[in-house]
Amino acid sequence: MTHSGTTERPRKNCITPWDLGLVCHRDRGSKDLKPGFGWPAGAPVSAPVGRMTRSTTVPASPALARWGIAVHFRGMKRFAAATASLQARLGARVVFTDEASRDAASFDSAKIPFRPAAVIRVRKEADIAVVLELANLHRVPVTTRGRGTTLTGAATPVRGGWVLDMLALNAIAIDEEAGMAHVGAGAKVADIQREAEAKGWFYPPDPSSKDYCTIGGNIACNAGGMHGGKYGVTRDFIVALRGFLPTGEYVEWGTATKKFSAGFNLRDLWIGSEGMLGVVTGAVLKLIPQPAERWTLLTAFKDETQALRAALTLFRAKVQPAICEFLDRESVLCAERATGRVVFAGQSGRPVLLIELAGGKAELREQRAVLLAWAKEHAIAHQVARTRGEAEELWAVRRKCSGAMFELGDAKLNEDIVVPMKNYVKFAEFLARLKRESGLSIPTFGHLADGNLHVNIMYHRADAAESRMAEKTVVRLMETVVALGGAISGEHGIGLAKTPFMRLQHSPAQIRAMQAVKYALDPRGVLNPGKMFEVFEVWKHARLDVKLPWDHK
Ligand SMILES: Cc1cc2nc3c(=O)[nH]c(=O)nc-3n(C[C@H](O)[C@H](O)[C@H](O)COP(=O)(O)OP(=O)(O)OC[C@H]3O[C@@H](n4cnc5c(N)ncnc54)[C@H](O)[C@@H]3O)c2cc1C
Repeated sequence: MTHSGTTERPRKNCITPWDLGLVCHRDRGSKDLKPGFGWPAGAPVSAPVGRMTRSTTVPASPALARWGIAVHFRGMKRFAAATASLQARLGARVVFTDEASRDAASFDSAKIPFRPAAVIRVRKEADIAVVLELANLHRVPVTTRGRGTTLTGAATPVRGGWVLDMLALNAIAIDEEAGMAHVGAGAKVADIQREAEAKGWFYPPDPSSKDYCTIGGNIACNAGGMHGGKYGVTRDFIVALRGFLPTGEYVEWGTATKKFSAGFNLRDLWIGSEGMLGVVTGAVLKLIPQPAERWTLLTAFKDETQALRAALTLFRAKVQPAICEFLDRESVLCAERATGRVVFAGQSGRPVLLIELAGGKAELREQRAVLLAWAKEHAIAHQVARTRGEAEELWAVRRKCSGAMFELGDAKLNEDIVVPMKNYVKFAEFLARLKRESGLSIPTFGHLADGNLHVNIMYHRADAAESRMAEKTVVRLMETVVALGGAISGEHGIGLAKTPFMRLQHSPAQIRAMQAVKYALDPRGVLNPGKMFEVFEVWKHARLDVKLPWDHK
């Protein structure tokens, strides 16, 4: 269902002095939102108008511009005083104002920088109470940061202010009897998995960034991964959370028990709230027994539609693979060119499904037989990995395809949409049309067991026509996804990158309800302002040319 949303005026009480340049206003009798005071005259801006955004330029008015700049500098002065108070309370070994620290925290994987005024390297949870107390007092924006691997700009301090670096809160303790992990928000997801595995337990959510990203970031984005179809996403493994409300009060949502029905479930409200409703400091995670065996199968198909139809037959037969990864023809070709290896010998450039079963011996024996019979009937070729080493080689190819796509363009609009299974085939047909009509390369891969597909619109930034086409193409994609009953994001969240599409997914009433929750918990709008509800068109912003440790080689 699509909604023709109305415009929402940003809440007055959510505005900080630093927001001034970004606030929009509406002239009497006009439907359009205009950029607020404080923008440099002639600057291009965009505002939510109707279902989509409208770009405009700031009307030249030297008087208004001067006034805006004066207010901005008054704000900066007050803000410098707030930072000095914070340093006095926490010390210069916690509050960093040097250029290198501020630059490093100015961007995440979206690579669009906004410099914060200070970075707070949290040593203990009580530090956060002090930060939020002063932030509320002086109206300083605070952006919580895990590792900064988000692809949506959610961890970018778009309004400046203070960045809370959570990496030092990284304790991990496994409760072997209860099958739970007690973790600090800054713990690395791969470390949690390793510690759990050492005790025979398994923590299934596995974003591809797990060697870097933190559990706090995963909770804030409700991260998923390849295991989503069988086991679920981060939300399905959260037993309890603790942390701070935006106002600085300490709270605990739930306890380390499997049952908890006491009061409203605000734990789930925090999951996926992208650091806008609270700061998570620790979590209790549910673990499940480590699967006894794994078995990997690679299958090749004539075309994308055949691959998707075949997957549906498999799910109808009640086979629940731990992983079921789809790579379309373009993704396969990119991976092949990047690795110099053919993904499937004799089937170069064919779309593939890479399937992994996991479970007990008896369960696997049964499912293996069903899967082999299915492959013989539906695929044009299949290949079983005989050893873990062989399976690893197959996964290595899958891991290459995302980075390999940059041979098709130097810019990528990377969308992590979700499509309901019943509309897989319709979506495949739409995607083929989109590629043909846009003339762009749109390699697509993803998790078929939960419908979460990564659609990558590739283009060359310097080519104006291609850039415009990419922008149009992403809008067409999102409109179709919502019309097919899907979601504009399955795991990455909204951040900045998906803000132009929030109003496609949600009705005005839904957005108002979300904003009411935000206002109730964060009346001064200090936590991660400028995200989710205000439109930000990433394609209009220059990106830093930096290589991050987790960037695909
Ligand atoms: C190569 C690569 C592969 C990826 N693969 C996947 C994937 O398979 N699945 C997937 O879901 N995502 C994936 N991602 C996206 C990203 O890794 C996830 O969104 C991850 O959850 C971000 O964790 P982080 O620690 O880096 O958080 P950050 O990027 O630092 O922050 C992300 C958001 O969480 C908030 N936040 C962080 N910590 C806290 C906290 N303690 N309390 C409150 N809010 C907090 C931030 O304010 C921000 O809004 C991938 C990214 C890359 C670069």
